[in-house]
Amino acid sequence: MAAAGQLYIVATPIGNLEDITARALRILAEVAVIAAEDTRHSAKLIQHFGINTPLIACHDHNERALAERIVTRLQAGESVALISDAGTPLISDPGYHLVRQVRDAGLVVVPVPGACAMVAALSAAGLPSDRFAFEGFLPAKSAGRLARLQGLAEDERTLIFYEAPHRLLDSVQAMCAVFGAERQAVLARELTKTFETIHGAPLAELAAWIAADSNQQRGECAVLIAPWQKPEGDESLDAATLAILDALLVELPVKKAAALAAQITGVRKNLLYQQALARKA
Ligand code: SAM
Repeated sequence: MAAAGQLYIVATPIGNLEDITARALRILAEVAVIAAEDTRHSAKLIQHFGINTPLIACHDHNERALAERIVTRLQAGESVALISDAGTPLISDPGYHLVRQVRDAGLVVVPVPGACAMVAALSAAGLPSDRFAFEGFLPAKSAGRLARLQGLAEDERTLIFYEAPHRLLDSVQAMCAVFGAERQAVLARELTKTFETIHGAPLAELAAWIAADSNQQRGECAVLIAPWQKPEGDESLDAATLAILDALLVELPVKKAAALAAQITGVRKNLLYQQALARKA
């Protein structure tokens, strides 16, 4: 029996065709078949690179049924590549069910990384990148969108959203209402393309800027939101800090207990002093 083939998850450019990798080109040329979200769209891409591998459609509506056929082909020794219309498959694109089924069948799935709009946006936005949350597309209806945003209002990570251009203004206005006018945000539009724009401003300003220029409501866009920060003076003390403070207050006057607790915990002395006064009262 032939050795099983592999499923390659291949990233393609998000605009600039130079962003295809050498490895992606080799694999797309070598596999037996390429599963693509939109075969007409992808035919142009692979023809551009002189690749003649046959394409089959893999979209949200046929993905599960197709996965069975792909598993059979892999078991027969053929290798298959999955691509989406742009960027990395599975990132707000089809592919999850296919990857799941192929892995469940004990077959090998190989990532072939490359362009991804959310990573490109984050890499150039100038917002904290040590912790971030990719939120994909918001619900289209305003009630669902508000509920989703409210759940994220006090998230301490940079938030990354994809958005359709005709919903961009509504979404940024909703973000302004939920996250506050002053929260820093970045619009990353048409990345890697001619009209690439990366514009950062507080949310109220960003919404006004988008409203004033209809060009900003065209093309492909991502919105990034700076992490929520606890307002000054709203520091609450955790249970361990309070336990230390209470233990010190048994032996020491308020001022000394607060100073020592600050040294031990790193919490501001004044905050501990106020807390110690309240506990003694
Ligand atoms: N799989 C893709 C990826 O890896 O980024 C995302 C596919 S999703 C269907 C398409 C959305 O990604 C667009 O609506 C937009 O929000 C974002 N996007 C794709 N290309 C972009 C670009 N060049 N600039 C900014 N955002 C882009």
